[in-house]
Amino acid sequence: MPVLFLGHGNPMHALLDNAYTWAWQALGRRLPRPAAILAVSAHWMMPHVAVTAMAGPRTIHDFGGFPRALYAVQYPCAGDPALARRVADLIAPQAVHADQEWGLDHGSWSLLRHLYPDASVPVVQLSMDASAPASAHYELGRRLAPLRREGVLILGSGNIVHNLDLARWEPEAQPFDWALRFDAWVREKIAAGDDRALLDPDAAGQDGRLSAPTPEHYWPLLYALGARLEGDRVSFPVDGIDMGSISMTGVLLESA
Ligand code: ZN
Repeated sequence: MPVLFLGHGNPMHALLDNAYTWAWQALGRRLPRPAAILAVSAHWMMPHVAVTAMAGPRTIHDFGGFPRALYAVQYPCAGDPALARRVADLIAPQAVHADQEWGLDHGSWSLLRHLYPDASVPVVQLSMDASAPASAHYELGRRLAPLRREGVLILGSGNIVHNLDLARWEPEAQPFDWALRFDAWVREKIAAGDDRALLDPDAAGQDGRLSAPTPEHYWPLLYALGARLEGDRVSFPVDGIDMGSISMTGVLLESA
């Protein structure tokens, strides 16, 4: 299976029809159909590593102030307790908490609704340990890479550039120069296979500090890159900077 990182951005994309959602829908049609999905979302930061282990994950509306229609969205996919156990095995001896409380947050379902609208693929979420350094997140991606040969689609959901303080809530907002530069820098490193250079966004100076002022939307990219296999072809199936400071760039790694 390929590995996918997508920028989810504004939760309203779950309901919208635009260039981003069309690109997500096209991916769902083009990629080989997964047996299950392992999603790493920016919106599940924990003090430890956890994996959703329930048979039927709930749809979590983890945001405030959006239209009622967004709260009505349900993504009734199945969970996959066997995959949750497999994930724990791959990560051992590091402890993985088998979670029965979480479910799918909007980082996952706002994308999945477009990728697999019929919710027919089981989904498991992996939390990110907030106290772990970037290198540990990358290493977890590496440990999870064998899932690709088992039909599992690893999906990182965040945003390469995510600065909400500077975001402009207007449809035609022009991208900030630093956002364009950082997004291009990250793409260049990914295409060159220089994953190590991407562990620290601050390596890109002020552009990196403005683009990833907090790590949670950036780290899911490290899981996807960690799961890269020798010889993977790289492409960027989704493009654009939304609201001036949110990169919607998607990264697809697939065997050539
Ligand atoms: Zn988000």
